[in-house]
Amino acid sequence: MAEATDRRSGSPPQAVRKRELGRGERVLPGIFRLRLPLPWPGVPHCNAWAVAAAEGVVLFDTGMHQPGSLIQLERALAMCNLQLEDVRLVVCTHAHSDHYGQAASIVERAGCELWMHPNHEHMTRMAEDPEAVLARRIEVARQSGVPEEPLRRYQSERRPRESGIAGVIEPDRDLVSGVTIDTDLGAWTVHETPGHAPSHVCLFQPERRLLISGDHLLGRISLYFDYGYSPDPVGEFIHSLDVVEGLNARVCLPGHGRTFTDVCAHIEGNRKLVHERLESVLGAVRGRSLTAFEVLPHVYGDALSPANAHWLLSKILCYLTHLRALGRARRIPGDPERWTA
Ligand SMILES: [Zn+2]
Ligand SMILES: [Zn+2]
Repeated sequence: MAEATDRRSGSPPQAVRKRELGRGERVLPGIFRLRLPLPWPGVPHCNAWAVAAAEGVVLFDTGMHQPGSLIQLERALAMCNLQLEDVRLVVCTHAHSDHYGQAASIVERAGCELWMHPNHEHMTRMAEDPEAVLARRIEVARQSGVPEEPLRRYQSERRPRESGIAGVIEPDRDLVSGVTIDTDLGAWTVHETPGHAPSHVCLFQPERRLLISGDHLLGRISLYFDYGYSPDPVGEFIHSLDVVEGLNARVCLPGHGRTFTDVCAHIEGNRKLVHERLESVLGAVRGRSLTAFEVLPHVYGDALSPANAHWLLSKILCYLTHLRALGRARRIPGDPERWTA
């Protein structure tokens, strides 16, 4: 989610810090925010949203799987007079570990279904074969001009790694446009919003104009795109902003942080930041031919560290891919590959 971390490239997940505990609170009648701890620096928690339904709740997102994490979810539910057995359905906004990680455990305990978008292999493939995904990531990095020495260090530090996923389970139902989710607050419609992740959807309750936005829109604007699973993640993200703008939501229930109401301003803020990033990538390759790795400091200064390297490089590659789709940048094949305006 946030610019300060990366679920797939940071240091290995650690046990939940002692201070961080799951917490639950009612934010609106029939809607509970479950704030669950994360082991990532800069992103201490994520939200799951419990919405009253059929004498129980529909649970939107799950929190990440790590030692003791299910107890934190139960703790948060208990603060809302709920328990795992009250979950009638699990709905995931996308397949990142902080939103899908505990799905298998919850589904098993509650005996309910999981609904999620079918394009979830960006995560499920990693959970099933982390070595292959790491090898591919190293190859992409090498192709992008990352020098051998830091690559070797990254490779050795990254093994072995927890996926944050309790178990890989397939959705019982594909969460695509046209599907609705019934709750006591009315039906929620599904809106496909790829970009942040290929499996991303937002859920909208039209009468109340409530939006469950996952990581597509957050209170604090931050960008991340999964690289390598779809043709143009940045282009998809920009289109998804238009999709969500068309809903005219009044209140946003995001995947991290507090609820917010100025939804349009947040959409505009995201557009502006994407535009700025694209311009700065374009500025870097204008009149030059650079590897993606060489573009990185032009955009992010000296922010590069072993913990964020993969995540920043993914974003740069996504920006370059989008500029290429627009016909504004060109890829020069080679080893490493280079880019020019
Ligand atoms: Zn997230
Ligand atoms: Zn995410």
